[in-house]
Amino acid sequence: MDTIVNLCKRRGIVFPSSEIYGGLRSTWDYGPLGAELKRNIAAEWWRQMVQYRDDVVGLDSAILMAPQVWQASGHLETFHDPLVECRNCNNRFRADHLKDPNTCPNCGQKGTFTDARQFNLMFKTYMGPVEDDASVVYLRPETAQGMFVDFPHVQRTSRRKLPFGIAQIGKAFRNEITPGNQIFRTREFELMEVEYFCPPDEGQQWFDYWRAERMRWWRDLGVREENLRFHDHAKEDLSHYSAATTDIEYNYPWGFDELEGVAYRTDFDLKRHQEASGEDTTYYDQENEQRFHPHVVEPAAGLTRALLVFLLDAYHEEEVRGEKRVVLRVDPRLAPTKVAILPLSKNPELSPLARKVAESLRRRWMCEYDETQAIGRRYRRQDEVGTPFCVTVDFDSLQDDAVTVRERDSMAQDRVAISELDAYLGTRLLA
Ligand code: ATP
Repeated sequence: MDTIVNLCKRRGIVFPSSEIYGGLRSTWDYGPLGAELKRNIAAEWWRQMVQYRDDVVGLDSAILMAPQVWQASGHLETFHDPLVECRNCNNRFRADHLKDPNTCPNCGQKGTFTDARQFNLMFKTYMGPVEDDASVVYLRPETAQGMFVDFPHVQRTSRRKLPFGIAQIGKAFRNEITPGNQIFRTREFELMEVEYFCPPDEGQQWFDYWRAERMRWWRDLGVREENLRFHDHAKEDLSHYSAATTDIEYNYPWGFDELEGVAYRTDFDLKRHQEASGEDTTYYDQENEQRFHPHVVEPAAGLTRALLVFLLDAYHEEEVRGEKRVVLRVDPRLAPTKVAILPLSKNPELSPLARKVAESLRRRWMCEYDETQAIGRRYRRQDEVGTPFCVTVDFDSLQDDAVTVRERDSMAQDRVAISELDAYLGTRLLA
């Protein structure tokens, strides 16, 4: 974990927010490479969950919602974690995360914990100029409620029949008792969620489908099979809205832990919103002339947590000709930079041609142009941030209008005509 955190910091992928003021401990900033990586993960999720399917539509709902939403959804009442405080060192912990419920993991004292009290995880703020009870609003702790309250609108305007899903990616906020492990658990994070609406008698079937489909997505993007597993929740551990939940877990440096949750939310949310708002949230099945509340299956993945997993899983150290090589074997679809253009040396003849090559590729691929330092060092800089291809412009290029393309994982080199470079990269980067 330290290796990844250091790589992230050294290369400006992820680093603590407001660092010049000592950081906020639970929020992180994504630098140039991190921002690209995060965008690429989100894009690949959207492509496969929305664009490639005709049964899922997208949504982008507001972070601030009417406070009644959280009353109806049950979050005000039950979205809390058990908090205990050590009377000796005054550190606070989440009781259900303690390895030994009797021993403080900070000071090692036994029997010093206070009784657990339920701590609500929602951030509260005020809307408008007056700070009174009537103006309290919450930062959403999940994006799901936007999709529930907008369900009738989206269903009508997109003219979808069941089964169909609504998908969204967006920020969520939880006042976690113990944030930690870099971006694994933060107080501000991003979610990628689908609410999949179906006839009540198809709920179990779609739950099974989404469990498998989401596991397929992680594997498709290269997460190693042995590092992924399902964890079915016991009935007594289920959230207040859930009839069944499976986590997809990843083998982090500290062991298997949650990466994504797939929950069978039944008709809980739609019903609660109808009761609370007085508005009709049912679906009308024209063929059978029936009106009912659909059941819902929800795959909910953390985008920021996904970024950590893709980094952890792709990180490799190997020895090449007696030297250590660090290589991030991340799927080319996710790689922050697709192509690095490297003139063999900084030279008045090579640089203009190399810049021309870079300009022609930039329209299609995220490129980086780098002409400082020895070529070997520049290759290594690209390897450790997962750039799939390096294009080297050398003195022969001035004669033969061709460049050397080096592939990240195999380090194999190909001589490619500049006129064919775009097509060459296209077949390999879009594969
Ligand atoms: P936990 O019990 O560990 O607090 P949860 O079961 O409440 O988490 P879900 O509500 O299922 O989490 O959230 C769905 C997904 O959102 C998680 O699988 C995770 O990827 C992500 N997630 C949840 N909380 C956080 C957080 N504080 N920081 C980063 N990602 C998070």
